[in-house]
Amino acid sequence: MALLETHGLTAFYGDFQALFGVDITLNESETVAVIGANGAGKSTLLRSISGLIRNVPGHIRFDGGEIGALAAPDVLQLGITMVPEGRRLFPSLSVEENLLIGKYGRVGNGAWSLDTIYDLFPVLKEHRHRPGTALSGGQQQMVAIGRALISNPRVLLCDEVSLGLAPVVVRDIYAAFPKIRATGASIVIIEQDIGQALKVADRVYCMMEGRVTLTGAPTTLSREDIHAAYFGAH
Ligand code: ATP
Repeated sequence: MALLETHGLTAFYGDFQALFGVDITLNESETVAVIGANGAGKSTLLRSISGLIRNVPGHIRFDGGEIGALAAPDVLQLGITMVPEGRRLFPSLSVEENLLIGKYGRVGNGAWSLDTIYDLFPVLKEHRHRPGTALSGGQQQMVAIGRALISNPRVLLCDEVSLGLAPVVVRDIYAAFPKIRATGASIVIIEQDIGQALKVADRVYCMMEGRVTLTGAPTTLSREDIHAAYFGAH
């Protein structure tokens, strides 16, 4: 049985339909990448799963139960934690305080504590007493990931972690995903920048205009297929 799955997921902003029956599946200890151009509906998919958009038509099932009607705090309690686009650190709090904020949502049993997060991203330990927003963009992204991990989520939903970062920094951040997965967490990575996402994902979904246009293991998908599914070009 899948750990998390959407079936026929549909979402609207007022009259505007952003998702048209999206089916995705995430298995235990799996990393799935959802790729697609700006506006494809990737963030809407994550917002629907995490309860930020509620009562969407279609099904969202987690661990066998229907969660589509749950509010965001209840989804968090179940162990589904989002790393939001744009990091959203608290400017008046230190790096360490920003990390500890993640504990308030839920504390599941698991691998993650301040110490293991500092092992994952040693640079954060060096800067732990500095204001979170004084760090570089890449380091702030590490804080946002650490803040999500400290709740020991079963599912980590990551929205465009590479946005605005230099390729070398993106590589450092992506190096963390296999280590996170090794602790037993399942991961959904939303990306416009597909290079790194395809390297760490077990399976990939490509979205265009609110629909899934391609699914498969990265090794089974050709560049041409991905290009066509991403841009709609043939
Ligand atoms: P991005 O990379 O820009 O985040 P995305 O694939 O995540 O793109 P979404 O943000 O999910 O796409 O947006 C899907 C569609 O819904 C787009 O056409 C977008 O303009 C529209 N949309 C997103 N948020 C809202 C909103 N709050 N109100 C109205 N329309 C919205």
